[in-house]
Amino acid sequence: LRHLVVVLGDQLDRQAAALDGFDPALDAVWMCEAAEEATHVWCSQQRLAVFLSAMRHFAQALRDEGWPVNYTEQHPGSLAEALAQTLATTRVQAVLMTEPGEWRVQQALQAACAAAGVPLRELQDRHFLCSRAEFAAHARGRKQLRMEYFYREMRRRHRVLMDGDQPAGGEWNYDAENREGFGPQGPGFVPPPVRTAPDAITQQVLALVQERYAMHPGSVAEFGWPVKRAEALRGLHAFIEERLPDFGRWQDAMWEGQPWLYHSHISVGLNLKLLHPREVIEAAEAAWRAGRVPIAAAEGFIRQVLGWREYVRGIYWQQMPGYLELNELGATQDLPAWFWTGDVPMRCLRDAVQQTLQHGYAHHIQRLMVTGLYLLLHGVDPKQVHAWYLSVYVDAVEWVELPNTLGMSQYADGGLMASKPYAATGKYIERMSDHCRGCRFKPAVRTGPQACPYTTLYWDFLMQHEARFAGHPRMALQVKNVARLAEPEREAIRRRASAVRAGQWDAA
Ligand code: FAD
Repeated sequence: LRHLVVVLGDQLDRQAAALDGFDPALDAVWMCEAAEEATHVWCSQQRLAVFLSAMRHFAQALRDEGWPVNYTEQHPGSLAEALAQTLATTRVQAVLMTEPGEWRVQQALQAACAAAGVPLRELQDRHFLCSRAEFAAHARGRKQLRMEYFYREMRRRHRVLMDGDQPAGGEWNYDAENREGFGPQGPGFVPPPVRTAPDAITQQVLALVQERYAMHPGSVAEFGWPVKRAEALRGLHAFIEERLPDFGRWQDAMWEGQPWLYHSHISVGLNLKLLHPREVIEAAEAAWRAGRVPIAAAEGFIRQVLGWREYVRGIYWQQMPGYLELNELGATQDLPAWFWTGDVPMRCLRDAVQQTLQHGYAHHIQRLMVTGLYLLLHGVDPKQVHAWYLSVYVDAVEWVELPNTLGMSQYADGGLMASKPYAATGKYIERMSDHCRGCRFKPAVRTGPQACPYTTLYWDFLMQHEARFAGHPRMALQVKNVARLAEPEREAIRRRASAVRAGQWDAA
C-alpha cells in the first residue's frame, strides 16, 4: 500500500485532510472499534452506540464509493495494538492521520508507527477554525487568556457577525439578555428536537451494545442521535428554524422532565465531524440577517461554537499532558456512587443524572450548575469527575470535555478556564428551574436536615478555601460573608456537610 489512512471515531469527515488525494488503487482506509476505547473510561451505552454506529455508517459510505476500508469490529485490545497488527501484516509506505482529538491516542499511535518503522504523517485538522499554531500565536505574550478576546479575534478573522470592522448590532456580546428563567408557568410548548429512528446498522449496534456492554452505564432503550451527515444536517436546520429564535433567552433555564428545551443538540454531530462549524455558524448568521432570529440569540449561539468550542480546544492542546494532573483545590473525595444511577433525593440532580444516563445528553447549565457544581462543592477528585463526564455524554471527546470539566466546572486549573470557581448555593438552581418546588430540601437553609445540600456545601467550600480566596478580586464578597460566621454556625455547617458527603440526607 502507498498510504494507510487512519480514521478515528471522531474523524468522520469526508473532507478531512488525511483523505485528500486518496487513490483507491493505491491506498486504504483503516478503522477499528478497539475495546480499550470503550473501557478506559466506563463508556456509557449511549456514547458507545453513537460512536460505533456513526463509524460503521462512515465506513459503509466509503465502501459504497469503491474505497477499500480495513475495518475491525470489536478488537479486544487497543487502537495501537490493532494498528501494530495491521502494520505487521501489510506493507505500508506511510500512515496518514488527521490530528487526533486526544493526547493519549496521539501518543499511542505515534509509538505504534515508530515501533513498526513506518512513517506517520499527521495532517492539520481542518474541521477547526483556529489551528493549534494560531491558538499558540494568540496565547503568546499574554499573561492571562480570556475567551472574550479570543472570540473577538475569531469574529474579525473569519468575518462572522461583522458589519465592516464593527460587530453586527453594535455589541460584541449580548449575554446580559440571555439569562432568563422560565418563571412559574414553565416553558410551555417547546418545538421537539429531531430524533432519528435507528436503521439496520444502528439496530445491529444497539443489539451489540445491549449484549456486550450490558454492564456499562445508562441504556439504549431510547436512541435517536444522528449517525450520518444528512441526519445531523436535518437536526441543525430544524434547530435554526424552530428553536434558535428563543435559544438566547432560555439558554440557562432548566425545567424538570424537559431535557431538550431550546438547545441545538448538535455537539455530537460537530464532535464526530459530521457537521463543520463553519456551516453551523453561517446558518445562524443567515437566519439573523434574514430577520428570522434576534441578534442576541444568533450571537449567543455563535459565541458557543466560534468562541468557546475553539477556545477550549486551544487550551487543551496548549496544556496537555500536564493539564490532566491539575488539582488546584486539592479535592480528594470519591465520586458518589449515585452519579451512575441518579438515585438521590435532590430533584435537580436526579433529573440531570437520569436524563444523562437515558440520553447521553444534558445541556450546559445542567452540566455546569447542577452536576458540576455539586461535584465541586462536594470536593471530588477532578480525575474522577473527568472520567464521569467523558463516560456519559455522547458528545464527549477529551479535547472539549477536559477543559470544561477540570477547568471551567472544577477550577482544578486554578483559574485558566474560568476566572473564579462557579460556586453557588441552591438558590441559583431555584431561580433557574422548577426543581426546588417539589424538593424536600430548602435552598435558603444551610444547616439541619432540611438544608439544601448545595447550600450547606457552598458555605463549607468557602470555609475550606477562605484563605485561598480572601485576596481574589472576584471572590472577595463571598469570602467576606463567610468571615462573619460565628464558630457554632461554622460547626453546624461542617456537621451537616459531612452528613451530606456521606449520603446521610436526613442527618442534621
Ligand atoms: P448548545 O447549547 O445548543 O450550544 C451549541 C454548541 O456550542 C454546542 O453544540 C457546542 O458545540 C458549543 N458549545 C457550547 N458551550 C460549549 C463549551 N463550554 N465548550 C465547548 N463547546 C461549547 N461539550 C462537548 O461538546 N463535549 C463535552 O464532552 C462537554 N463536556 C462538558 C462538561 C462540562 C462539565 C461542562 C460544563 C460543559 C461541557 N460541554 C461539553 C459544553 C456544553 O455543555 C455542551 O457542548 C452542550 O451542552 C452540548 O449541547 P448542545 O449541542 O445542545 O449545545
